[in-house]
Amino acid sequence: MSNINRQKIAESVPQKGFFGHPKGLFTLFFTEFWERFSYYGMKAILVYYMYYEVSQGGLGMDKTLSLSIVSIYGSLVYMSGIIGGWLADRIFGASRAVFIGGILIMFGHIALAIPGTITLFFVSMVLIVLGTGLLKPNVSTVVGEMYSETDNRRDAGFSIFYMGINLGAFISPLIVGSVYKQSFHLGFGIAAVGMFLGLIMFMATKKKNLGLAGQTVGNPLSPAERKKVFTIIGLAVIVIAIIFAITITKGILTFDIFVNLIGILGLLIPTLYFIVMYRSKNTTSVERSRLLAYIPLFIASVMFWAIQEQGSTILASYADTRTQLNFAGITISPAWFQSLNPLFIITLAPVFAWMWVKLGKREPTIPQKFSIALLFAGLSFIVILLPAYFGGTDSMVNPLWLVISYLVCVLGELCLSPVGLSATTKLAPAAFSAQTMSLWFLSSAAAQAINAQIVKFYTPETEMAYFGFIGGASIVLGIILLMLSPKIQGFMKGIR
Ligand code: GLU
Ligand code: ASP
Repeated sequence: MSNINRQKIAESVPQKGFFGHPKGLFTLFFTEFWERFSYYGMKAILVYYMYYEVSQGGLGMDKTLSLSIVSIYGSLVYMSGIIGGWLADRIFGASRAVFIGGILIMFGHIALAIPGTITLFFVSMVLIVLGTGLLKPNVSTVVGEMYSETDNRRDAGFSIFYMGINLGAFISPLIVGSVYKQSFHLGFGIAAVGMFLGLIMFMATKKKNLGLAGQTVGNPLSPAERKKVFTIIGLAVIVIAIIFAITITKGILTFDIFVNLIGILGLLIPTLYFIVMYRSKNTTSVERSRLLAYIPLFIASVMFWAIQEQGSTILASYADTRTQLNFAGITISPAWFQSLNPLFIITLAPVFAWMWVKLGKREPTIPQKFSIALLFAGLSFIVILLPAYFGGTDSMVNPLWLVISYLVCVLGELCLSPVGLSATTKLAPAAFSAQTMSLWFLSSAAAQAINAQIVKFYTPETEMAYFGFIGGASIVLGIILLMLSPKIQGFMKGIR
């Protein structure tokens, strides 16, 4: 998109009306609030739904398999952002992509809300994967479009938006986690209602608040290209469907092979992205150097999200089976633990923002912040290793251990998550700026693809080794990154 276009779009948005920010931020804040409400509400009970016995309302699946499927699912949810970004950029425009995505997500949750079979469960997964791919990266892109190039409110705008994400992620596990013992389907139904409210909010206020933001198709397909692309997509879908149908019925494509395939894709896609960007004619030599600097940051980010995302798989199972849930006279729902991460984010994000300003010149550089994130992430796993060290794996654990572990991980998240997106936009070559949102989410996709493999090693007998090894790996990587920081900073050519 040209600079003139960008300027025109920003000017079309009412520039005041939401905490001194463009009015459209209100619309996007609540759209994403409700989308995350539904996503994290669903995710707070998903793994329980899968491994709880049928008599308890679950699907009665094997626990390790369930943990693995949830990880693969999380990986695909973020991987599909590439498709969502592409569709917005070339066919729909971001705003329509958000709307279509929201509809798919809502139907995905409705499919889970209907008591049914495993088939319905997988249909729901496909809908939510595609829907989130369409909605999540594009809603964030529209946030960026509302600010002109020189508007210094942009970073603050993204911080407010980030609060919306975490507010949604905080509230829903509390609600969904309170009802799922009566009925999982009621829990998923609440997630569906959340997405419905998000869609209403988006449609009702978009015209008034968003102006031209999200309306333009950045790089539209020409009619000839359209025909070609649609033919290719149509054929690809048919071929893939046939391959799946044959290999599954013949027993060639087992779940393990599928997990391996996604694992390979999770690593292959970002690698290809880097190669294409690096070799592109449109990438300047300064941008090439910045791309090299981005590689270790990306790897660190994968390591970080691998630990953070286990908060809703391994630690969720830990909350359910290893933790005393009758505590101080109340019965705790294991799903409530999912609210801790966003709660700490909401309360501590302003503290971190203040601290960076206060540190002034001594504020850590981007690579240093990423190293700190890895140290905290590693430490959060060391913390949760301790109950087994002191009390073995047979006794039930005080829930405060989990609280501390989530808190320590959030200290890392605040050094990486808000920084990462803006670092990505600064370090990615200008010619690829539209895809940078998806690029950043690819680190979470890769992380969860790896998780799908490693969660298999988690058993009560291996618990200490599991947390110790992964936590230790993160700490070692953090130290290496810290030592390399000055060098990486040099490659960043002036970006801070
Ligand atoms: N938890 C944040 C969100 O849902 C960050 C996700 C990520 O980058 O993995 O938006
Ligand atoms: N902190 C995550 C994010 O920023 C939310 C979560 O894991 O619950 O959205």
